[in-house]
Amino acid sequence: MTIIRVALDTPLDFCFDYRWCAEHPDAVPPLVGQLALVPFGRREVVGLIVAVNVDTEVPADKLKNVLAIRSQLPALSGQWIALCAFAADYYQRPLGEVAIPGLPRNLRALKTVALDRALKKLAKIEAVHDATPAAMPVLNLAQQEAADAIAGARGFAPHLLYGVTGSGKTEVYLQAAAQILARIDDAQILILVPEINLTPQLEGSIRARFPGIAVATLHSSLAEGERMTHWLAAHLGQARIVLGTRLAILASLPRLQLIVIDEEHDPSYKQQEGLRYSARDLAVWRAHQLGIAIVLGSATPSLESWQHAQTGRYRKLELRQRAVAAAVLPTVHLIDMERNKPVDGITPVLIAALKLRLQRGEQSLLFLNRRGYAPVLACDACGWISNCSRCTAFMVLHKPEHRLRCHHCSLELRIPRSCPTCGNVDLQPLGRGTQRVEEGLQAVFPEARITRIDADSTRKKGSAQAAFDTVHRGEVDILIGTQMVAKGHDFKNLTLVGILNPDTALFSQDYRASERLFAQLMQVAGRAGRAAQKAGGSASEVLIQTRYPQHPLYAAVLNHDYDHFATELLAERRQAHLPPYLYQALLRAEARELETAIDFLTQAASAVEHPGITINDPIPMTMTRVANVDRAQLLIECPSRPALQAFLKVWLAALRTIKTRAKWSLEVDPVDI
Ligand SMILES: [Zn+2]
Ligand SMILES: [Zn+2]
Repeated sequence: MTIIRVALDTPLDFCFDYRWCAEHPDAVPPLVGQLALVPFGRREVVGLIVAVNVDTEVPADKLKNVLAIRSQLPALSGQWIALCAFAADYYQRPLGEVAIPGLPRNLRALKTVALDRALKKLAKIEAVHDATPAAMPVLNLAQQEAADAIAGARGFAPHLLYGVTGSGKTEVYLQAAAQILARIDDAQILILVPEINLTPQLEGSIRARFPGIAVATLHSSLAEGERMTHWLAAHLGQARIVLGTRLAILASLPRLQLIVIDEEHDPSYKQQEGLRYSARDLAVWRAHQLGIAIVLGSATPSLESWQHAQTGRYRKLELRQRAVAAAVLPTVHLIDMERNKPVDGITPVLIAALKLRLQRGEQSLLFLNRRGYAPVLACDACGWISNCSRCTAFMVLHKPEHRLRCHHCSLELRIPRSCPTCGNVDLQPLGRGTQRVEEGLQAVFPEARITRIDADSTRKKGSAQAAFDTVHRGEVDILIGTQMVAKGHDFKNLTLVGILNPDTALFSQDYRASERLFAQLMQVAGRAGRAAQKAGGSASEVLIQTRYPQHPLYAAVLNHDYDHFATELLAERRQAHLPPYLYQALLRAEARELETAIDFLTQAASAVEHPGITINDPIPMTMTRVANVDRAQLLIECPSRPALQAFLKVWLAALRTIKTRAKWSLEVDPVDI
């Protein structure tokens, strides 16, 4: 008889012991890292074996038997379990809640049929051996040095690849990967991107470049069967390159030799629910644990990574020029909206620039990070505005769909014919979203082919890709879009980018807002002029419409000067005692009544002694009510990460004993405060 300890996906912060009895005398005893089917309460669940032959404190008559071991699946490695254990410990969650949900659902299912089928189907992702690899482009000197530095590094080697947009960072990743794959027989490489559906070009170039190698993708829009096959291919070492989104950081990769985090500053590397982890931070830990190289690439690195590069903790590799020799960074101009009054949200200067591109057959991009027709519908007669009845938010006018929609609780109403308060029939849209800009532009340029890409226009599966394809084929003259169009795309014929309303982020309460705005502006600006200027064609330019042309953030954007901007911002953060010079955790509580949430947080604030830890006052969240639930938060700060971690452990134990009707959760290193 063997006693095994199993981690289960429960909120209880401990593991469970079970008895394993061999059915046959020659049955192989279970191993750490195998999955076991066990009874739990009235259910049967799959758990991860974390110890074998344990001395259990459970009395023999209470000990239940293991129902089955998934022995056809090779055990998960000790290193993988250590990664999950680290994440569990750091983010203050039970091990099972980290390890189990990351596994493909079919692996967690009770029946083993799916697993057997997937193991058989693995042949499908095998490489196409007879295809000729696409030629490796010749790198410029800076690219070559960067690729060599990454591939030549030994042991734990974190790199910050800081390169302007269009400088060919992807090529550096691919050629460093090629060197490592050639040097180490069974090496695996993990490449993380913010959103895989918005960067299909990358997957295409990886497959073309490495036709002799199995490539697996891991992201949330894979079908279950596919996800299982790809996960297994990674786990069995068969997939040599794994391309994925943040969830892929928890994949089992027994031969991992290099991790690449593309656009490392991107907020989507932070999971915003459940286990609120940072895939970037876990990736650095994983590289350290394995003693391998990691590359964090960006044109606008996060201040955290920038600081590590400044202090020498990360090696900084710089690409100062665009990869296409004749392609130059676009010139950026600010359009002062006080002097150049917009009509329908667009200034005459920008209209003239658009007109020029239309005449020359070039493409333009208009960026506005606000979808819908107008953010508010209002009544001039009585002051009624389209508030959401369930949230502290406005209902957004969606004109083509004839709806008012709340973007926070997804409540939908038909557009009222008249004011619900006074009956006035002349309701006015206030402000401007992408739909309204599209309508206005079509009136100015009736002949132009205009396409809008945002979450509304791309609801159907595959429609985003189809829309991007029409842009790439040159069938679109003017593209209007939200942040969906800012990332990754290489539009060859695009020479003008217009940015419509970036000012709101300048005065946000969130101290990270300016860092994000800068990154976003640089990224969207970087869509212009990625190819060489054509004879008789326009020089690429970026026009930013603003009411605050004197703002220092715009000065930095004008000069493409991230260095200076980041250095100033870091100095401000240091002075104001903000991250990365301070560590934070956030306790959130939500309840039907705000009072219940605040009351819980008030008790939490004084639950244990906390020398050296700053506990701020409980406050309602900026958007207090969402879907009829009130939300409040309590911010905890400390200049020492270990001290904060030690406090959180003790504190959490105390929080669990507080009686409350509020639902609460703790987040370590929060990014949205
Ligand atoms: Zn009214
Ligand atoms: Zn709502």
